[in-house]
Amino acid sequence: MTAAVQNSMAADRLDPVQVKRDFPLLRDAPLARGLHYLDNAATTHKPQAVIDAISDCYAQAYGPIHRGLYPLAEAATARYEQSRQTLAEFIGAESPDRLVFTRSATEAINMVAGGWALPRLQPGDRIWVSRMEHHANYLPWQRICQQRGAELGIIELDEDGRLDIAGTPELFGSRTRLIAVCHVSNVLGMENPIQPLCAEARANAIPVLVDAAQSVAHLTLDVAALGCDFLTFSAHKMYGPTGIGLLYAREQYLAEMQPLLLGGGMVDEVGEGNAPSRWSDGPARFEAGSPNLPGAAGFAAAVGYLDGLDRERVHRHVEALTRVAAMSLGALPGLRLLSPPESSAILSFTMEGVHPHDLAQIAGERGVAIRAGHHCAQPLLRHLGIVATARASFGVYNDQDDVNALVAALDAAGRVFPLEPS
Ligand code: PLP
Repeated sequence: MTAAVQNSMAADRLDPVQVKRDFPLLRDAPLARGLHYLDNAATTHKPQAVIDAISDCYAQAYGPIHRGLYPLAEAATARYEQSRQTLAEFIGAESPDRLVFTRSATEAINMVAGGWALPRLQPGDRIWVSRMEHHANYLPWQRICQQRGAELGIIELDEDGRLDIAGTPELFGSRTRLIAVCHVSNVLGMENPIQPLCAEARANAIPVLVDAAQSVAHLTLDVAALGCDFLTFSAHKMYGPTGIGLLYAREQYLAEMQPLLLGGGMVDEVGEGNAPSRWSDGPARFEAGSPNLPGAAGFAAAVGYLDGLDRERVHRHVEALTRVAAMSLGALPGLRLLSPPESSAILSFTMEGVHPHDLAQIAGERGVAIRAGHHCAQPLLRHLGIVATARASFGVYNDQDDVNALVAALDAAGRVFPLEPS
């Protein structure tokens, strides 16, 4: 545990100034001088503990995974499998065997769509997604529905912008084959009612995939408590490395799923010519090719880092900062907050008379990094009747200073594009 983590643990509240010292880029990099990084929903920075875990792998225990019979290869394999165990504990999975390392959340969702849902889908069947899905949790389902003559149902939003489950009576109907929803919206930031949704789906024998890409960094995830059948997220949005993600699947579904990538490490017996081959059991079946050991080690180190900060405190910190920011932004002339009041970590907004890209550019020139665009959620933006929003998203190293800088930057943008000609 680093000194900053230890010190910040002494208090009940997270101390973002101390936390920031754990992040070399934010602390030392010339490009981070005067930077207020509020683009955490896109990707997060990496603490020294994660960087060290990756470099330690290469320096101390690097070798082929599941392929070598000498001590170095065995040590590398043990690290890889220990990382899986750490991730399993992190999400409350019943066994590490339910966890597949993927390249990303995107890859994991494509694996479930192509490897589990596609072979079962019949014309007239339905897969449901919500209006607020990221394209990663929309396009794979859209394509398999198109391929099979099935229907992609959309859970719309009610007047308050929340999932209108009560207004979607066919959701749990007999033609529904799967429901895929995000835990937290990457545009609006609100948390969806995953637990009751999964409970009702389970009662109707319908599997639910939860896209936890935007919740994993600041909410506690427990697959048993959520009651989901599939769950996915990427390491890079939770202070871990880019290029690795996770798919959790309940035993029955993992056993039924077909691998999309074929190759080394995922097969027990290769058939001669056209004779069928027999795939390995468990997660190995879905991890063809040479596994990403440094990625897995960095992923596990990110879990350790978040646990060290205390996930409850991380949640409280991010939520409090979002509340404060929402209040300050709401007071700016012409600013319209699109996120509902209970949103956490993410705030989307527009400003009358100023394009979101101009907002982001003016903010960027003042050292405030926010995102502008459709956030890979075009179906939601169509519904909102806009083409783009500006989005600020908060992480463990953000503080009141960042919020003040954001407010000042947006205020300045409002002056560059005044509503009334002066
Ligand atoms: N789902 C949500 C809600 C996201 O916000 C994102 C990325 O922004 C993804 C999925 C895809 O994540 P990745 O690009 O790491 O695969």
